[in-house]
Amino acid sequence: MPRLTSIALITVLAVLMVFTVHPVSADSKKILAAIDEAGASCRGVSQKIWDFKEPGQQELKSAELLKEELAKLGYKVTGDLKVPEDLVKDGISKTGFKAEMAGKGAGPTVYLMLEYDALANGHSCGHNLIATSGLLAATGLAKVMKETPGRVVVIGTPDEERGSMGGGKVALLEGGHFDGADVVFITHPNDRWSLDQRFLAMKRATFTFKGKSSHAAASPHKGVNALRGVLLTFNCVDSLREHLRQDVRIHGIVTKGGAVVNVVPELAQAEFACRALDTATMENAYAKIVNCAKAAELGTGATLEFKEPRVALKATITDPALLETVQANLKTLGIAGNQLKNFDELASSDLGMVSYNYPTVNLWFKIAPEGTALHSDAMREAANTDDAWKSTLIAGKAVALSAYDMLTNPAKLKAVQDGFKEAKAKEGK
Ligand SMILES: [Zn+2]
Repeated sequence: MPRLTSIALITVLAVLMVFTVHPVSADSKKILAAIDEAGASCRGVSQKIWDFKEPGQQELKSAELLKEELAKLGYKVTGDLKVPEDLVKDGISKTGFKAEMAGKGAGPTVYLMLEYDALANGHSCGHNLIATSGLLAATGLAKVMKETPGRVVVIGTPDEERGSMGGGKVALLEGGHFDGADVVFITHPNDRWSLDQRFLAMKRATFTFKGKSSHAAASPHKGVNALRGVLLTFNCVDSLREHLRQDVRIHGIVTKGGAVVNVVPELAQAEFACRALDTATMENAYAKIVNCAKAAELGTGATLEFKEPRVALKATITDPALLETVQANLKTLGIAGNQLKNFDELASSDLGMVSYNYPTVNLWFKIAPEGTALHSDAMREAANTDDAWKSTLIAGKAVALSAYDMLTNPAKLKAVQDGFKEAKAKEGK
């Protein structure tokens, strides 16, 4: 092909791309209108999930309802997801799901994560609103995908709260259900608007000490006190604290400590959780805790039984370019930058595992007065109010617009992917 012709062709293609692939404002309007239109019916879905209040691995009705709604929108829904047997024995495969919609031709894949598990006191973490803000975003995107490159995957990630087993996202990650994701979005209700991405890395340890029973008064010298192993572990851990970074959290309980007072305990057990702002620091502190238990074994003569847990949660990776995109969209929706606040009361989530593997953003949205604690009865009530729903609509819109940016703006997507690699390389340093 003569050179001039190719230049002309490239110019025509470039012009076409500007007018056909990036009609941003028109499509944004379509997305927002579709979300407004679906508002009332999605509010109904949120109410139902709030009423179902199904705990982790039992969210069958919530998952079914969401799958039905996504199918109505034209998403191709898949249930019965394969996950590693040893990680989660039941539930996840039935309560997790994927719903996909392909766009016009090849392009990036954006994931929208939905949570819908409740706690013992109902939806006190507001996961009914995580599910429905995701559903709203899926509704908006469905309206424009025929003309948009790439793919939207809505993934139902159940069982977030029972983190001791690793949470649903870990099982779904290991099952390969996030393969091919370019960017992952999730939201979470709270007492403020925030793009604070910090979640602590966490790993648990169960230490079992086996001693020898004997009469505690008549023949203590013939026994080996397993409880002493537990107590010494606690003391040793406490003396470690002086040298740990401020964000390191170590908290333990005694799960077995003997049966009757006149018998030297032959079995004792303690469970610890170790957390930190970055994964390497957490692992470092964790190794020291294990050494404390080993020292207690040596000191008491009780035998220590300990096995590394199958799963540990990583800390979240913060992707500045992704935050920038979401923040810009929030601004167009009336949430200015000065309304975004950080918070210092940090916990852990299986979200960290997703964010460690793929550029991920979690948008906290305000549904309750500042100071209202997650998991409180007050938060549960807030999660079912009209005011909360107004914020949920904004959150759904911000996710939809940001996902759309990722699908249609290769430069923004590249900045996100480069930023992710950089942030990951810097983690803990
Ligand atoms: Zn939560």
